Amino acid sequence: MSEALVVATDLATSARAVGICRDFDGWYATVGVHPHDCGGFAAATVNALRDLTRDANVRAIGETGLDFYREHQPPALQEQAFRAHCRLAAELDLPVVVHQRESLDAVERVLGEALGSAGGVMHSFTGPPETVQRFVDLGLHISFSGIVTFKKADDVRAAAAEVPADRLLIETDAPYLAPTPMRGRRNEPAYLPHTAAVVAAVRNVSVSSLCATTTHNARELFRCAPLP
Ligand SMILES: [Zn+2]
Repeated sequence: MSEALVVATDLATSARAVGICRDFDGWYATVGVHPHDCGGFAAATVNALRDLTRDANVRAIGETGLDFYREHQPPALQEQAFRAHCRLAAELDLPVVVHQRESLDAVERVLGEALGSAGGVMHSFTGPPETVQRFVDLGLHISFSGIVTFKKADDVRAAAAEVPADRLLIETDAPYLAPTPMRGRRNEPAYLPHTAAVVAAVRNVSVSSLCATTTHNARELFRCAPLP
């Protein structure tokens, strides 16, 4: 049996993720509105997300967060939407899936103010390494995508070495961020071993040990059903 987290980026994909997960045992959905797509975000959006969480396969709120690099939406609106996602996660005791780009300080502030003890994941973390502990202290897991395999990503590898073992995750971020040597292709879960190999190397553990750790952490964070 395969297990997967199907990550949504707006209301339509949230509903779609829930629908997809009905068809596959061990697949779990997130519901949320990505900071790129939060134009028009309002109380009604939060209510629609809350309604979707009634489905038992919904195990996280997101993607949410702040992206001050692309700034597809005004920062104030992004922060309003991110805060609402964090409050919803706290209310429902579901983890958040956090997107951040050039926004670490603001993300840390909003998480500290609104998330409570719900926890979550800093997805596709890109460092710098000295910031890892700040998010660990807020109860977050730290997840690494294919970026950790990129030639110039020494800072990201240094961050991957810093994360406490019980907070470490790896991810695809598919269809984006395919790891070296697949970089530039459409990413897919089959490429994840390339990411695992690099993270294992920088942490000086075997690939099988790394995978046991990250699988355990993911299954616990997203409260996956016991395996048959
Ligand atoms: Zn993202």
